[in-house]
Amino acid sequence: MSTPALPTRLPAVGTTVFTQMSQLALEHGAVNLGQGFPDFGCDPKLLDLVNEAMRAGHNQYAPMTGIPALRTAIAAKLERLYGRRYDEAGEITVTNGASQAIQSAILCSVHPGDEVIVIEPAYDCYLPAIALAGGVAVPVAMRVDSAGYSVPWDLLAAAVTPRTRMIVVNSPHNPTGSILRAADLEALAAIVAGTEILVLSDEVYEHMVYDGEEHASVSRHPVLAERAFVVSSFGKTYHVTGWKVGYVAAPASLTREFRKVHQYNVFSVNTPMQHGIAAYMEDPAPYLELPGFYQHKRDLFRAGLAGSRFELLESSGTYFQCVRYGAISSLPEAEFARWLTVEAKVAAIPVSAFYSRPTESGIVRFCFAKKDETLQKALDTLSRL
Ligand code: PMP
Ligand code: GLN
Repeated sequence: MSTPALPTRLPAVGTTVFTQMSQLALEHGAVNLGQGFPDFGCDPKLLDLVNEAMRAGHNQYAPMTGIPALRTAIAAKLERLYGRRYDEAGEITVTNGASQAIQSAILCSVHPGDEVIVIEPAYDCYLPAIALAGGVAVPVAMRVDSAGYSVPWDLLAAAVTPRTRMIVVNSPHNPTGSILRAADLEALAAIVAGTEILVLSDEVYEHMVYDGEEHASVSRHPVLAERAFVVSSFGKTYHVTGWKVGYVAAPASLTREFRKVHQYNVFSVNTPMQHGIAAYMEDPAPYLELPGFYQHKRDLFRAGLAGSRFELLESSGTYFQCVRYGAISSLPEAEFARWLTVEAKVAAIPVSAFYSRPTESGIVRFCFAKKDETLQKALDTLSRL
């Protein structure tokens, strides 16, 4: 007897670069500035609120769409920050992190043969979801110059065909740390206006925008919001990436389709976490203070590298800093990141891992969501390379 052959649906997929680099960092005792997660704890108040929810007996299935208190808190936040009123009953769904929101949004809207435009470098979960839906990913590469990365809207417009079903955008952007601004939303709106094209907007770093700039949420823009799934994650905002609680906001007709998938791939999301987060959201201070908190870390990290041989690119948002390393090494990105981890004992992520086609730019990504002393330890080495 032998196991039946299983034709793979995702031939290009292996272990993610984040897992690989975290493992390598662990094996070699390197400071892990690779995988994006904080090395510090969350607010103890949030832990108390989740604990209280468990003790109060909130331990059975939550409603499929999310507990009402959390959906109400999310709708209130979106209205306060971006001026769009989403109906908490029919337009907000709590998800198992942003990853599941993204996967379900793609599965419910992309049909076999549909094209989905993805701006590269791109976070790693978009392409597998498109492939599972039977869709065809159409990559459009960002421009990168001495200042940093930007979206070439002219090239993106040229990539639209009658088969285009969706455009995926992500701001603040992982891995580049660039952000979309009002003019970018206008350019996107000009492309989709009058078409049936949907927008999937990954805004998990929405509260990490620096230098006094505003987050250009797609939910701010009427033409875009009418056709968009807007996704975020409490993991990033509240320093709890392991909790995997997020949400999607979308017009009622899109939400109805979203929930048909959501209902069967997760049904509902961790109940006590939802209660704890809903109560914690009553105070907006934690997310309003986040730009200041992370800008300090970004500035500390950038100042530490200012006199080094690394060339700093723009980091206007996220907790990532991309750097050119051409003055230090001519190795390809994956090899340089490996060398950096094994020999210099600081882990980074090669930006080449975020492209579907081989693309070498001589750039790696560091995560600065770390204690100041962790950053200092990494800087002691990086500044001398
Ligand atoms: N999108 C981006 C751009 C991310 O960086 C992440 C976090 N790694 C996710 C989505 C997934 O978020 P979550 O952990 O909530 O599933
Ligand atoms: N979002 C995290 C990053 O970009 C990684 C999450 C994961 O390991 N899948 O580093």
